[in-house]
Amino acid sequence: TKSEQAAIEANQYIVGGVNSPSRSYKGVGGGTPITMAYGDGCYLYDVDGNKYIDYLAAFGPIITGFNHPHIVAAIKKAAETGVLYGTPTAYENKFAKMLTDAIPSMDKVRFTNSGTEAVMTTVRVARAYTNRDLIVKFSGAYHGHFDLVLVEAGSGPSTLGASDSAGVTNSTAQEVITVPFNQVAPFQAVMEKWGSKVAGVLVEPIIGNFGMVPPEPGFLEAINEIAHAHGALVIYDEVITNFRFRYGAAQDMLGVIPDLTAFGKSIGGGLPIGAYGGPKHIMDTVAPLGPAYQAGTMAGNPLSMQAGIACLEVLQEPGIYERMADFARQLKDALLEAGETNGIPTVVNQIGGSLTVYFSDHPIKEYEDAKNTDSEMFGRFFHLMLEEGINLAPSKFEAWFLTIMHTQQDIDETIAVIHRVFEKLAQ
Ligand code: PMP
Repeated sequence: TKSEQAAIEANQYIVGGVNSPSRSYKGVGGGTPITMAYGDGCYLYDVDGNKYIDYLAAFGPIITGFNHPHIVAAIKKAAETGVLYGTPTAYENKFAKMLTDAIPSMDKVRFTNSGTEAVMTTVRVARAYTNRDLIVKFSGAYHGHFDLVLVEAGSGPSTLGASDSAGVTNSTAQEVITVPFNQVAPFQAVMEKWGSKVAGVLVEPIIGNFGMVPPEPGFLEAINEIAHAHGALVIYDEVITNFRFRYGAAQDMLGVIPDLTAFGKSIGGGLPIGAYGGPKHIMDTVAPLGPAYQAGTMAGNPLSMQAGIACLEVLQEPGIYERMADFARQLKDALLEAGETNGIPTVVNQIGGSLTVYFSDHPIKEYEDAKNTDSEMFGRFFHLMLEEGINLAPSKFEAWFLTIMHTQQDIDETIAVIHRVFEKLAQ
């Protein structure tokens, strides 16, 4: 096929044929990643002309679909009026105001080009603000690809079968302590021992990187209380969760407020984006006001800003989050029913317009639970769904994402495919 030819060419020039390892099919028993030609609404079309209903949403950002007219218009206008100035622009002000209005814990914001940069800088700011070194995080949470957080780092590295990355120094690994998600006691024990040296506690408030896993009642509250009692800052990594479940951050849905927050993915309309922010007294630690340095030639570029503004404008449409959640619930019900009918132990974690299917007979609350699910079954499921025209993330540690472009007909078609695929899985 043309897709296979493209993959051969990709492997000649691009390491592993992909520009991000999670796009390889290593986590689903192998195979050649499909080369896509274009996207329209919630559909992808490959270079051979096959159509897919897409639930990958580019690992999250494509919440408004691939080519929403309002965002396309904003990008066209941005392209026509100069893509990068290296000076302040009014677009940055408008987007910053929209974000700070939507997220009460944030007085001030800084834009970056990726989620990785955003999280990386929150760590630096927490260290600068507290004058401490250590970071505590939760196993299986993914916070980007900077050295400090590549220890027990969820979806990306786990899919490759490594809980760590070569090239991360031992001294860096010693600056981070990793504890299980959804368990207060191990976190408390770590803080009792090391708390006076801990600068920040890095948290995905709803896990998005060993599938979607909600916090147990009281867990986030306990983290905040214990961290603050020891003088550490709480940093939420909302790169996946921002604007995914509501217009704004997940923290305001969960009712637990961190000291700093990192953003990315869905705020940018599909363009490269990241942001971080918090209250003025902490953010004023950042250069040029304070001693914590952070910069970026492309940061706050007019293209990403105007796409981001347009994206947030689209996400204000009434009813869209309810509709995505309803569709996700229908998919969840179908997956559970198909599992039941075909005698395949299946667990679905669904939160708003996102869900993860695990082949498992136990609930998934922490990373060990997600690791101990049937990888081989997931690999077969992924490939059978793909053959039937449903594009999912190629990893059992990732989520399905609904977009505002999915229709009831897409959901009905997907449900029919789910039932056929489970029958095949049972054979
Ligand atoms: N944090 C979380 C929670 C993420 O899911 C990701 C990306 N999967 C990142 C940070 C890194 O973002 P980026 O890929 O834009 O660098």
